[in-house]
Amino acid sequence: MARGARVVVVGSLNVDATSYVERFPAPGETVTSRAFRTALGGKGANQAVAAHLAGAEVDLVARLGDDANAALALGVLERLGLATAGIGQVADAPTGVAQITVADSGENTVIVTGGANLALDPESLDTERERLASAALVLSQGELPIATIERLVEHCAALGVRLVVNLAPPVAVSAAALAVCDPLVVNEHEARAIGIGAEVAAGAPLDEWRPHAASAVGRVARSVVVTLGAAGAVGASPEGDWAEPAPEVVAVDTTGAGDCFTGTLAAFLAEGRGLAESMRIAVAAGALAVQARGTVDSYAPRATVLAAAA
Ligand code: ADP
Repeated sequence: MARGARVVVVGSLNVDATSYVERFPAPGETVTSRAFRTALGGKGANQAVAAHLAGAEVDLVARLGDDANAALALGVLERLGLATAGIGQVADAPTGVAQITVADSGENTVIVTGGANLALDPESLDTERERLASAALVLSQGELPIATIERLVEHCAALGVRLVVNLAPPVAVSAAALAVCDPLVVNEHEARAIGIGAEVAAGAPLDEWRPHAASAVGRVARSVVVTLGAAGAVGASPEGDWAEPAPEVVAVDTTGAGDCFTGTLAAFLAEGRGLAESMRIAVAAGALAVQARGTVDSYAPRATVLAAAA
């Protein structure tokens, strides 16, 4: 397929190592897992894959360590056809890893080791200006050092490149840096953490969130999208504000749904589609992703997403 607009993703890249157990071990105890799987993870990598499947020409800027997980992660990205020239390998650090344990109760515990992701420091972005300048849109997330996100904002502003930030987790990036995000994408917990809809009750309908997204335009960021799980998403820009309900589906695994949404949104914005239309397509992509197991394994290709959004 001919690739669409160029999206540069600057973000985290992990290997998720998941053990499935009957119950969590107590301190000092050993339990045997029923199954184990490794998969690509990290919000940067997940969103890069989602944008790629949505048709964008994706370039991922990330850092891997000097271990076997680096080859595993690169292998997945290369098989999918993503550009990996912006992925550096650092000595003396492990590839970022999330050790996940899922119990029969459905509860999980997660230990994240940032590892090589922490080497994506502000200075390392200074050599990426050409790559950033080539983008129709740059996408990043909250899993990088705060100073790196703030430097990315400076570069994008100086180069005049549109920047989308998914502030997950809701790290303390400066208000000045958030102000240029177009859009800033957050889920409802992250929204509250940064003062958008702090008073909205959990489970409130889209229409209750919509004015809060609208009032954040110009105050918090240039434009704003709040994802609301099974309810869908709301968004607002200087052009207007919108509520996009999600279709009712049977969700089997919601892991990575937000990343699917954001990567898809970025790909369609980069093509020049408006925020309302891109949100509608991203909601369809998110709803497809929750109907299959896994993270990037559950992301549907462009044609399937567009058919679902029609
Ligand atoms: P996060 O995973 O970041 O917490 P959300 O839970 O808000 O993000 O989900 C992101 C998007 O994925 C939603 O806006 C929606 O489009 C889709 N989605 C999530 N859960 C469901 C669900 N149960 N049914 C349909 N769509 C869903």
